[in-house]
Amino acid sequence: MADNRVVEGRMVTPESLAELIEGDEVMDAEAIADADRDCPECGGDVLEVGYMPSITEFVTGWKCQDCAWRETDRE
Ligand SMILES: [Zn+2]
Repeated sequence: MADNRVVEGRMVTPESLAELIEGDEVMDAEAIADADRDCPECGGDVLEVGYMPSITEFVTGWKCQDCAWRETDRE
């Protein structure tokens, strides 16, 4: 399925990618997209996923496909 991507050699779904970024379980996640940026650590391709860590919060997260780098739009 097109929603599944390979990150650090492992297949991820939107939910499991969001959980990699969040470091915890998430309630819901949108489809994975290709982010228009390169990884600042290794220059690899970066994926983007919007997700809800809780019922009241929506976060956009980014994760490198090749290394452990990750980031979110919250401080
Ligand atoms: Zn990287």
